Parts: sequence; C-alpha cells; structure tokens
Amino acid sequence: MTIATAEALPGLQPHSGLSKAWTDRYTSSLMNTFGPPKRVFVRGEGAQLWDADGNRYLDLFAGIAVNALGHAHPLIVQAVTAQLTTLGHVGNFFATAPQIALAERLIDLVGADDARVYFCNSGTEANEAAFKLSRLTGRTKLVSTEGGFHGRTLGALALTGKRAIREPFEPLPGEVVFVPYGDTAALEAAIDDQTAAFIVEPIQGERGVEPAPPGYLTAARAITERHGALLILDEVQTGIGRTGTWFRYQPEAAQNGAWQPDVITLAKGLGGGLPIGATIALGRAAALFSPGAHGTTFGGNPVACAAGLAVLYAIERDNLLDNAVRIGGRLRGGILDMDHSAVTGVRGAGLLLAIELADPVASELADAALNAGFIVNPVNPQSVRLAPPLILTAAQADEFIAALPKLLDVHTTRSK
Ligand code: PLP
Repeated sequence: MTIATAEALPGLQPHSGLSKAWTDRYTSSLMNTFGPPKRVFVRGEGAQLWDADGNRYLDLFAGIAVNALGHAHPLIVQAVTAQLTTLGHVGNFFATAPQIALAERLIDLVGADDARVYFCNSGTEANEAAFKLSRLTGRTKLVSTEGGFHGRTLGALALTGKRAIREPFEPLPGEVVFVPYGDTAALEAAIDDQTAAFIVEPIQGERGVEPAPPGYLTAARAITERHGALLILDEVQTGIGRTGTWFRYQPEAAQNGAWQPDVITLAKGLGGGLPIGATIALGRAAALFSPGAHGTTFGGNPVACAAGLAVLYAIERDNLLDNAVRIGGRLRGGILDMDHSAVTGVRGAGLLLAIELADPVASELADAALNAGFIVNPVNPQSVRLAPPLILTAAQADEFIAALPKLLDVHTTRSK
C-alpha cells in the first residue's frame, strides 16, 4: 500500500519556502474569522514549530492549550495510525473499544464510579451538552460568571460572560444570570431553588488566566447542593494536567471534604491535537440523558479516542503532571526574578500562566516574541498567556526566560 504524504496531495505544493503565497491563498479561500494568520506552519516536533520559510519557533501556546504532548508525539502518531489503519469511524449506533476505554479511564481519573461520559468534538459542544443536560432537571435558570468563556455555539455563548462576543448574536437561549467571578456572596444571592445549574471555570483562561479565589469552588459546591442545582465545572482549558493535577478542582476538593461536581466539561488537551471533547456527569446528572435526547455523528470517534488514550498514558508514564508544576514554577520564578519594571506579576498555575504587564502592550510584546522565535498569546491588553506543551523542558523554559528581558525592554521604553 502506498501512503500519499501530505505534500503529494493536490493543492499542497509547494509545501515550504513561500509563506507569503500561502497567506494570500488563505485570505482568498477562508472566512475572515481569525484575522490574517501571523505565520503559516509546516512542521512541528515536541515544543518546536517551523514555518513555511524554514524559521524555528518555541511553542509556548500549544495551539491554545491543546498540544499537551507537543507536536508529532510518537505515542499519538502510533495510536492514531494504528487505529486509523484498523477502524476509523463507525458512528454512534455502534461502539468501539477506544471510546469505551477512554470513558473508563476518565471515570477513573475523576474518581467517581457513578460518572458517565458523553463524547463530542470540542469545548463548546461539551458545554452545549452540559447546558442541555441542565434543562432536563426541569429547571431553566442558569447562573454563570462575568468574564467567563464557554464557547461560540449559541448555547455555550449564552453562558459566556463577555458582552462583546454575545451581543451581535442576541437573542441567545435564556435565562442566564451573570455574577462577578470569585464573589461567594453574589453567588449565594443568585442561586435559588429554581436554578438548574451554575457553570464556572476553575481558572478563567480567556479572560486572562484569572484563578478563582481559594475556597470559591467549594462554596459553589455547597450553595448549589443546598438548592438542588447542578455544579458544572468547565475544565476545557484547565483539565488534563495543564495546571499540574488531572483536573484543576481536585486539590481544593480534596482539602475540603473530597466533594465532587455534578458535571465536568473537557476538550483541548484531551486529544493532544485531535478534536475531541467530553462531558462527564456524576450521580443523578449522569442519568439525565436518555436515548434520543442528545447526539453527534463524530463524537467518540475511535481515532480521536485513541489519541486521548495516548495522551493520558503519556502524562502518567512520563510524570507530566509533576513536569507541569516544576516547569511552571521555573517559568514563574524566572519571570519574577528578573524584576523587570514592565512586569507586575505572574498569574495562574502549572503550565497555564499569564505575565501581568504594567502597560497595555501585550499585542506588541507577543509580536516581538514571535519575531524572536517564541509563540505566546496576548490574552488581553495587559496579559501575555503561556500555555506550552506539558513536555516543555527546563532548557526550553530557560530559553524563553533568557530572551524575555530584551523583549520587555522595547515595550517599557515605548510605553513610558
Ligand atoms: N471553555 C473554555 C474554558 C475554553 O477556554 C474554551 C476555548 O477556549 C471553550 C470552552 C471552547 O472550546 P472550543 O474552542 O473547543 O469550542
């Protein structure tokens, strides 16, 4: 059997050497949802990427916190190749082994035998499923947080507390009440016996990597429980080891009576780059969906699930939870130790961090970093987000720390 390489397929030549030509083709063939691409990438390996002109980059953003094992990880390549050459898709009238094994593994990691998994293809779909699940409680009121991000489909957007991206698409599915993030008293006032669910991120990633204050999630658990409302934790960005534990809520829950949420939503890191999302429901929430209530053609696809199994296996085998804590600490320490006047702090946990800037120069800084060979994300005007692969090495973290002062100098000078 001859397997065509990507370069051999129609439309893919020339594969390299012509960033400008690719950018022109992009602009005249794709909808303008993301603005002009800053680079066209042709190859990746570990935490490194190469663009169409042959330039090398250190990837400190991992495709928006997705490539947990970096690029072209042998375990994912092997798992996906083996699965695709055996069985690529059957649809959800039937089951496959990778789907079942991945669901079992996730239940194991959550630590609740009564949990059940619904697979989909993205974060927004995972939250969409959670939203629909909440309607089956017989209640329709939802509580969400200001500044929170849950996705772009209409249901997930209705739960998203960012006015600018909601307003053009109103009216959105209702009754969603927004409360200030981290404010327990406001939560107490908003949740009542008519509330179906409270949805919250343990760290608000898209807002700028804003962690919930200690105790907030535990209070949310107690309040929702008291009113018979579901607690939905959106761990799309924070889950699968990104902050140094399998799920971000786990350390706080373990310290406060080992509580569990009713629903956890996942995507991003779960597939290590293949599209997969999951809605995990526990206890009574796990029984809310019955046949016909919800569905998807591709969700639970065996190739994506094989990738998920490879990601979870590698995280455990290679101690990547510890690595996230260690390398995250090294990045944080290195950035703070430079004591640069342009930096006012570092937020986040593990390998989900934001460099807090004194001035609103995050975009300029990210562009300068890109030109210097580092991919970082200007998540808001005053914060640069780092969400590198969990395999990032100490030497790679140090490479960025060594380059940062010079990048910051330019923008301190300019902004003063
Ligand atoms: N929830 C959170 C917390 C996210 O950070 C994101 C994406 O950034 C989403 C949901 C939506 O995920 P997706 O882009 O895969 O639909």
